[in-house]
Amino acid sequence: MPVDWQQYLGPFTVVALIAVGVWEMRQPLSVFQLSLARRWALHFGLWAGMGLFVNFALRLSAIGLAASLSGQMGFAAFFLVHDFVLWCSHWGMHRFGVLWVWHSIHHSDPDMDASTGLRFHPIEGLWDQGVMLGMVWLLQPSVDAVIGLQFLGIASNYFIHANVALPVRVEALLQWVLMTPGLHRPHHSVEVAGQKGNYGIVLSIWDRVFGTLPRRSFDPALGVEGVPVEETIQPLYVLGKLPWREWKRL
Ligand SMILES: [Zn+2]
Repeated sequence: MPVDWQQYLGPFTVVALIAVGVWEMRQPLSVFQLSLARRWALHFGLWAGMGLFVNFALRLSAIGLAASLSGQMGFAAFFLVHDFVLWCSHWGMHRFGVLWVWHSIHHSDPDMDASTGLRFHPIEGLWDQGVMLGMVWLLQPSVDAVIGLQFLGIASNYFIHANVALPVRVEALLQWVLMTPGLHRPHHSVEVAGQKGNYGIVLSIWDRVFGTLPRRSFDPALGVEGVPVEETIQPLYVLGKLPWREWKRL
């Protein structure tokens, strides 16, 4: 009887976060400004709320759609196309104000660790889910390819946000192909110029092709300009006031 891997996605989200959290404690890159417990509580709340919202709003998961289409596209091909489309989507979030309004919530974290990978506004979650559904509909990947990609997406999301100091040689080696904590951290710079690059999700090759990798690595101040640090762990500010502030600036 085949294993129903879909049922393990939720537990994997929690277990992988704890595993990366332990890694961060052993090899931390920087000291946090805010309470870890309060940040993690907010980020878990956003993740749980977004899951309910997105599933309720769409009533259809990418896995369910793939199963109904009985597609055959394999994991490797679907992964490559999907990673490129996500690169384009992420570029668009920093190019078009109406998308940045929602993506700014992710960037507003003044600290960065694996839990930042859960910090998304439900509207951005809806956008991402829509992109995924569109790709499944167009490309018709196999169910296994979609499920495999979702596991990879969770793991890579934690990895690129991890507050870890990788050995310099390992970081340099990985950067040739993959996005790493060292590549993604500059993207979270409080300076807008720093955010305009390193859009990759899993692979770094798209940023190389389009010339959006910075010339040097640096360890910037993180967050969104003008956002008070204490407000970034207030749910009402994160879900309402911040997107409204960014909307008014369009
Ligand atoms: Zn971004």
